[in-house]
Amino acid sequence: MHGPANQKTDNQELPEEPATQSSTPMMAQFLAIKRAHAGELLFYRMGDFYELFFEDAEKASATLGIALTKRGKHLGNDIPMCGVPVHAAEHYLQKLIRAGHRVAICEQVEDPAEARKRGSKSVVKRDVVRIVTPGTLTEDTLLDAAASNHLSCIAVLGTGDMALAWCDISTGAFSVKATAADRLAADFAQVNPTEIVVADKVLEDLQISGCIRESGAAISPLAASRFDSSAAEHRLKQHFGVGSLDAFGAFSRAETAALGTLLDYVTLTQVGHIPFLRRPQKIESAEGMLIDAATRANLELTKTLKGERQGSLLEVMTATVTAAGARMLANLFSQPLANSNDINARLDCVSMFAADERLGHLFRDEIKAVPDLERALARITGNRGGPRDLAAVLTGLKQSLRISELLHGQDKLQGLPNRLRIILRDLSAAPASVIDPLTSALSDELPLLARDGGFIAKGYNQNLDEARALRDDTRQVIANLQARYADISGVRTLKIKHNNILGYFIEVTAQQETILRASDSNNLFFHRQTVASAVRFSTVELADLEQKIAIAATRATAIELELFNTFTTAVIAESRKISSIAAAIAEIDVYAGLATLARERRYVRPVVDESDAFEIVQGRHPVVEAALAAQGERGFAPNDCHLSGEGRKLWLLTGPNMAGKSTFLRQNALIAILAQIGSFVPAASAHIGVVDRVFSRVGAADDLARGRSTFMVEMVETAAILNQASTKSLVILDEIGRGTATFDGLSIAWAVVEHLHGVSRCRALFATHYHELTALAGLLPQLACATMKVKEWKGDIIFLHEVIAGAADRSYGLQVAKLAGLPDTVINRAREVLKRLEDHRNQTPTLALVDDLPLFAFSESKTPTEKTPIEDDRLRAALARLNPDDYAPREALALLYELKSLSN
Ligand code: ATP
Repeated sequence: MHGPANQKTDNQELPEEPATQSSTPMMAQFLAIKRAHAGELLFYRMGDFYELFFEDAEKASATLGIALTKRGKHLGNDIPMCGVPVHAAEHYLQKLIRAGHRVAICEQVEDPAEARKRGSKSVVKRDVVRIVTPGTLTEDTLLDAAASNHLSCIAVLGTGDMALAWCDISTGAFSVKATAADRLAADFAQVNPTEIVVADKVLEDLQISGCIRESGAAISPLAASRFDSSAAEHRLKQHFGVGSLDAFGAFSRAETAALGTLLDYVTLTQVGHIPFLRRPQKIESAEGMLIDAATRANLELTKTLKGERQGSLLEVMTATVTAAGARMLANLFSQPLANSNDINARLDCVSMFAADERLGHLFRDEIKAVPDLERALARITGNRGGPRDLAAVLTGLKQSLRISELLHGQDKLQGLPNRLRIILRDLSAAPASVIDPLTSALSDELPLLARDGGFIAKGYNQNLDEARALRDDTRQVIANLQARYADISGVRTLKIKHNNILGYFIEVTAQQETILRASDSNNLFFHRQTVASAVRFSTVELADLEQKIAIAATRATAIELELFNTFTTAVIAESRKISSIAAAIAEIDVYAGLATLARERRYVRPVVDESDAFEIVQGRHPVVEAALAAQGERGFAPNDCHLSGEGRKLWLLTGPNMAGKSTFLRQNALIAILAQIGSFVPAASAHIGVVDRVFSRVGAADDLARGRSTFMVEMVETAAILNQASTKSLVILDEIGRGTATFDGLSIAWAVVEHLHGVSRCRALFATHYHELTALAGLLPQLACATMKVKEWKGDIIFLHEVIAGAADRSYGLQVAKLAGLPDTVINRAREVLKRLEDHRNQTPTLALVDDLPLFAFSESKTPTEKTPIEDDRLRAALARLNPDDYAPREALALLYELKSLSN
């Protein structure tokens, strides 16, 4: 965990004294910069290397596995040092960031020649140009192409109001929403930040800091004073060039503070070069379908319980053809909608592509050719773009025109859904001010960095062509010169070579030196260097030529860099338009991808409205179905689920282990979520009244990392559902109450069913092994019993995975254990134990007790009142005193009553 850029939060053992006379000028410069960046590892640029010193060097060499060496002395001690080559810096940065470090990149900000003018001892000026943190990356090599990289900021006001803002500087996304301490975990689960900026004071709140830590993001504490909402408002207005923020939405003070501080942090880490950010978007908390962190995890929406993307719903539903499309789909998954109009607007788009396979192919082929426009734009606006980023923008914009032509064609044929009409408007606006010059300017082969030159095509700029001709012609002259000198000297293998120290020189072998000197009566060649295997010479003519070449090359590079700046300025001027175009293409990619899946997998368009309907016919579990298909297994058995209509709002599902209860429960929640994302769903038909919240809990899931036992987690999560579910919610409870003793568990499950039925009155599926609960069907009018059909064959069990009305007759646990390969001796012994338990149970009046508060009566019968030892002793003492021969019949009767009273 590291502190903010300008605060010393890391206890670095830096030499205490500032620049003293004992420091070299370079070390004095290093120390001054390092003091301002105590919380970061300082990458100090020296020639072709970034060098690290002191404790930074020790940390980096340990993390990177590179050699730790020494460089000079400071205050009489060796200075530990390590270095990484500039050209491979991204690779090392990746490792350091993954290991939780922050890195300040310190570059030379003037030409060494300028420094020399100030005297031989002066040091080249250096400055930190960027602080690299997990949430502020833009490099493709450091990012996951298919995932957003959210940097978020929490603002907590004195009033207790809270807001969460987040941005992705690699794509320009910038959003905010109001939150609260008890919603923070759910909001983090939705936003999935890689770095969280928060006031140091807020971290003292245990609930909030607990949520932050559990999110797994890097934490960047800032001084509380930076969260001032007035300063934040001013900063936002200035950045977006508006007089008031009202145009973007009505932000609360907490929201303004969160957005403004986030912007401040981006400015701080990007050292002034803020990559393009879209105008802030306010997300209303009630806007989407609410899915809390536990439900997200449990339904394996974007990653599996093991934390892997593979096997999640998102992975199975990703058929996009661009990285930006995949990122947008992931964002839609994190926030399904809860408004039927918006959902149907998306479904209309998917339907258009699903209806016409050829159309889908046509669009996807064009979209495939679109590079990652968003991230290229982010690098250009963040001042770290290169010629390839310009090319990416150009290709993206050209493709956007082709895609808009396709849309126009479709519009003429059949009309477009509204959403696509808006997209078409964005796509047709590709700016000619960027396309035209870049089309004629860029060459085919492009270097990564602008300063490497060669990215402007021949014929685009006359001055550049001239400088290049001079540079290249002179090279031809050198080739001619080499031939001439070989002639004059009689050394056939004489070569003119170049290196950074000598520049151009003539090279011959040691043996040829005498031949060359013997032929040189005019003193043409003068000696420059003798190395092991060669002797090097130059001539006046060669030195002159070299200077001309150097001047021409510098001029060519300068012209290219100037053109590069002109183009990036043109791109930056149109960044808002380009960003909208990138988002529009990603959106079409999402719709066309979902449509492709729908066609391939026979998904249907769900009917989504504002009713309370939940009618799924022949529903399937998208992930299990795909897994079975991949394994070449027999098909998935589809099942209906009807939670609307009289007497069936809450289903109580019983059935053997392994019969498919959990799969059935989850598939219905997933179908609802897919529908509200705007996707077709795996079913023969589906009618869903918009679900405001989905809850899913599974009994017996440990959360040891949070220090909670299985049962505690189960109860905390169940409590959350019972307190929050509304009549519009969908609740999936699987084996609730299993984590404790049988009767406690049964009692809790019983009361939970009653609460869901009578208080929450939501649509719910409740799977249980407590067969006793099926007796509730007679008491609760909306409760319907369903069970998983199985067949028994020669003592074994065959799962049919079919949900039918009714209750399971028993658990078949032993058959499943046998299938799992438990030793026969264990199975046989378990059979004996089971038989005894069942015989014993038959003696207790379980069913008779169901009619009237059965559980309490039941528990009474199972735990007869025990006598306390004292009472027992009084009884014993009375019995010991008694002599039966002493009493007449009447006295004996009175004694009997006395004894009886002692036993109560
Ligand atoms: P337990 O009570 O032990 O948790 P369960 O009844 O919840 O079991 P599931 O875990 O849902 O059973 O299903 C067990 C396996 O059966 C799944 O992994 C899946 O491969 C298969 N399965 C479940 N439902 C179906 C279905 N409808 N069609 C085909 N296979 C299915």
